[in-house]
Amino acid sequence: MLQVKNIVKYYGNNKAVDNLSFEVKDGEIFGLLGENGAGKTTTFRIIMGLLEATEGEVLLDGKHINYSITDKIGFVTEERSLLTKMTVKEQIVFYGILKGMKESKIEEELKKWLKEFQIESYENRKIKELSKGNQQKIQFISAIIHHPKLLILDEPFTGLDPINVELMKKAIFKLQKEGCSIIFSSHQMEHIENFCEKLIILVKGKAIVDGYVKDIKKEYKKKNILIRGEDLPLKEIEKIKGVISVTKQKDEYEVKIENENIASKVFTKIKNCNITKYDVTEPTLNEIFIAKVGEVHE
Ligand code: ATP
Repeated sequence: MLQVKNIVKYYGNNKAVDNLSFEVKDGEIFGLLGENGAGKTTTFRIIMGLLEATEGEVLLDGKHINYSITDKIGFVTEERSLLTKMTVKEQIVFYGILKGMKESKIEEELKKWLKEFQIESYENRKIKELSKGNQQKIQFISAIIHHPKLLILDEPFTGLDPINVELMKKAIFKLQKEGCSIIFSSHQMEHIENFCEKLIILVKGKAIVDGYVKDIKKEYKKKNILIRGEDLPLKEIEKIKGVISVTKQKDEYEVKIENENIASKVFTKIKNCNITKYDVTEPTLNEIFIAKVGEVHE
């Protein structure tokens, strides 16, 4: 289990991380979200022991993170950090040895992962000859070849097509099943939405939203109604107290409401129309992110 306890980080007078605390249990996927400059990378660097926090501490399985346990951590960055003149095998063997693995074990694992990612024939290809997406897969394999206890994924799906995103998700779920604690960061909310149970949204280094995704959505209260139908009394719907907005989206309307009690009032207005869809949905994480981060900036 990873425990981040009250970390603070100053760069000069700039407080980049402001009393941040969270826990990621074994086998849990945790989302760390925030706009550009919110403090995510700084937090990751502190967790990995690459940067010293001004205050606070980070524990992995009860131990302070230092050089001796960094080989229990895997990190996939947004930027590529591959040695492009090497072949895939040379690269992975190099990383595996740095993590304290035996060469025979590295080769065995490598074969397994290349198969998983459907790039078995690339073992002896130079990294620089691979496409961006395939380089990203190699970067991922480098980070997890040693079956880390903690895996930090910073925009891991960059450059991957939808099929390869699914392959990588499958691989991440495999590690989750092994009990790996996973921290995931992405600006693409749909990935966070179907990946993380728990999350934090950072604004200027401070957690402004913190908890389980299902609870965050419940607390947010606002809902959306999707309606498809003919001759809908849109003006009347707009006037209902508790209706925030009515917008057309392709062949249907989205009605944003303050809370679920308003849904029946909207329904009363349209029940005699020719409706082919009436669906009350949860707000998306994207909506919550924009609303919550926006509130802080107001
Ligand atoms: P992004 O989504 O753009 O990658 P981030 O959430 O990872 O952003 P950080 O890179 O952690 O944000 O930056 C947090 C704050 O710390 C910013 O105000 C940034 O300018 C500042 N900062 C980051 N690295 C340094 C550094 N090495 N020296 C001084 N200030 C820094």
